[in-house]
Amino acid sequence: MPLEQNSTNYSVLNYLQLPVIVFSANAHTEVFKIESFQLVEQYYLHASNNPTNKHLAQIIYSKLSENDTDKLEVEINNGSYRHILRLTANVVGEHVIVEGEDITELKRNQFLFNRTNTLLEDYSKQMFELAHTDKLTNVPNRRALFSKFSQLQSKHKEFSCTVSLIDLDYFKRFNDSFGHDFGDQVLVTFSKHVKDSIDDTCYFARLGGEEFCLIQINNKDTVCFAITEKLLQTTKTIKLMTPDNSYIGMSFSAGVAVYGNDGISLDELLNNADKALYFAKENGRSRVVKFEGA
Ligand code: GH3
Ligand code: MG
Ligand code: MG
Repeated sequence: MPLEQNSTNYSVLNYLQLPVIVFSANAHTEVFKIESFQLVEQYYLHASNNPTNKHLAQIIYSKLSENDTDKLEVEINNGSYRHILRLTANVVGEHVIVEGEDITELKRNQFLFNRTNTLLEDYSKQMFELAHTDKLTNVPNRRALFSKFSQLQSKHKEFSCTVSLIDLDYFKRFNDSFGHDFGDQVLVTFSKHVKDSIDDTCYFARLGGEEFCLIQINNKDTVCFAITEKLLQTTKTIKLMTPDNSYIGMSFSAGVAVYGNDGISLDELLNNADKALYFAKENGRSRVVKFEGA
């Protein structure tokens, strides 16, 4: 079919605002294009590395078939404005009609939406971290501990753990003798020491004041609190430098409760661990005591 005849057939497309190009499906040659398509063409020919050799129809055709799609997005950017067109190809007999739709606004809104979403996600992550982290020591707080416990409980079918309630000995003396800031430093030092000493079978949190909790996930049939005992030994080797440049040591007492035997809720386990902790304090401190029931 001669080109002129095709052009006449398609000339009605000139009434459209949006860019339209028609090319032959077999030869990939341009048959007809409306004025506004010039803009797309200029951009493409300008952007192409070899403008004289490449024909827009061929570029579009090969891109559409390369990507095995009937849609293609083209960005027109001449410095003063930026438009994004979505080109959609429709095969009509021997011809392919490619029409362009201006999706600049849609893209802009999508971009803003995604950006807002990312910001909100980041913000909500930060809020979550803040709500679950102890500000002074940077370890998980009481809220985080409870949420971790229910997570572990629901995740592992045969869940078992050992809960150690740890309370620093004579902590008030640090505050009274060297000031509150020094007391804070003791809490930070101790927390770091524990974090550095445990692996991922343990979860450590600050409950408040100078009270901490260590949850150790038990193997199938080993229930042990050796890790808390070991922690006590290493804690006793810490030398804290006081504001008057002398060294002072520290220790803790711990009460231990075992999941299953001594309770299945964290409240219950902490309650019973607290009873054992009381016993540890009463019996000279600096020791780990297992809850022995009523
Ligand atoms: P015990 O061996 O019986 O546990 O004695 P203790 O002195 O450790 O316990 P006590 O409950 O008598 O004192 C705890 C003190 O910890 C009282 C409180 O002012 C102090 N404290 C609580 N939170 C903080 C904190 O965040 N920073 C500092 N520096 N002190 C705190
Ligand atoms: Mg206490
Ligand atoms: Mg104490």
